[in-house]
Amino acid sequence: MERLVKAQLTIEGTDGRARAGRLTLPRGDVLTPAFMPVGTQATVKSLDPHDVRGVGAQIVLANTYHLMLRPGADLIERFGGVSHFMRWEGPVLTDSGGFQIFSLAANRKLSDEGVTFHSHLDGSRHELSPERAVALQIQFGSDVTMALDVCAGYGATEREQIEAMRLTHDWLPRNIAAFAEEAARREHPGALFGICQGGFDPNRRAESARFLADLPVDGCAIGGLSVGEPKDVMAEMLDVSVEPLPTEKPRYLMGVGSPEDLWNGVAAGVDMFDCVLPTRVARRGALYTPDGRISITAARYRELDEPVDAECDCYTCQTYSAAYLHHLFRAKELLGYRLATIHNLRFIQRQMETMRAAILSGTFASAFSDFHARYQPANQVVAAEQRARYRQARDPNTGSVR
Ligand SMILES: [Zn+2]
Repeated sequence: MERLVKAQLTIEGTDGRARAGRLTLPRGDVLTPAFMPVGTQATVKSLDPHDVRGVGAQIVLANTYHLMLRPGADLIERFGGVSHFMRWEGPVLTDSGGFQIFSLAANRKLSDEGVTFHSHLDGSRHELSPERAVALQIQFGSDVTMALDVCAGYGATEREQIEAMRLTHDWLPRNIAAFAEEAARREHPGALFGICQGGFDPNRRAESARFLADLPVDGCAIGGLSVGEPKDVMAEMLDVSVEPLPTEKPRYLMGVGSPEDLWNGVAAGVDMFDCVLPTRVARRGALYTPDGRISITAARYRELDEPVDAECDCYTCQTYSAAYLHHLFRAKELLGYRLATIHNLRFIQRQMETMRAAILSGTFASAFSDFHARYQPANQVVAAEQRARYRQARDPNTGSVR
């Protein structure tokens, strides 16, 4: 099959396995490593595109599952695609919808053909196949279309993991053929990224990545990680997934976006990330600082006449005191959600900028050590709870796997 060159990655520097580059897409360039804020419903929650630009983001992600159900692909196409509809006149990546179907939709049924499911909004019945997922994303006018894949969660049985990989591999050529057909009819069809899976077995992970590496896609995504597994398992699976991927194509680690995971992902050779975490936790008043996440509603911020993070150059920290943010969250005022989201996204973008500069100056290893020496990850407790649930679910006495 012919290569579909619609996304050009220029590698500008490497340091160890970490890479810095420039990804050229139809609606603009993205400096890498890059973090993509998530605009689930064609909006990064609580921000407008001016705010999103202001934090330094150059590409946003939108969710096919949500947008196909509401307002629908035909409407979005009539309004000039997701990018113009939401007045974010920059690059947009859309996911394939598969992950949300497996986590949100009711009564989903998987077959070789695709997946049928009922909407979480009104129960209406829908189908998604590789061909349909690609057609929807083309209607959305995505700069990057993602192939439809099947993700097996952490705790899935051996058989479920193997079956998820088999379908992902069976569907990938169908995604590519459908994209080529649609792309031939469009002036700016954007790029198509494939996804590798493989569950939590290093051999299968490597096999899936080799399968993807041989196919004519514009970029390679690693799916099915950060779904509740311990950090060391994720690190091992990431390493074996990245290793077979071609160096000249962008690498995208899906659904990963805690500060420590971003540093670890870049160290492993990943170029692109997305995650709802920075925006989701912001709306709960959890704000990033160089030392870790803080809770702005805590009593110690009530009278603090200083920014949340004295080192931060974001609009929020440059303008408001921690005491004011504390007040907004205590009073559940809408402005609090916006200001917290601006801060968290800017914090994440500054991590990306710091990593990029360190890679280009050959100081990534020391920057990596500096970050980890100071930053206390917030989700160790959550991860431990997830592992406990997993062990419980695996208990032979219960006879269930989820
Ligand atoms: Zn800030």
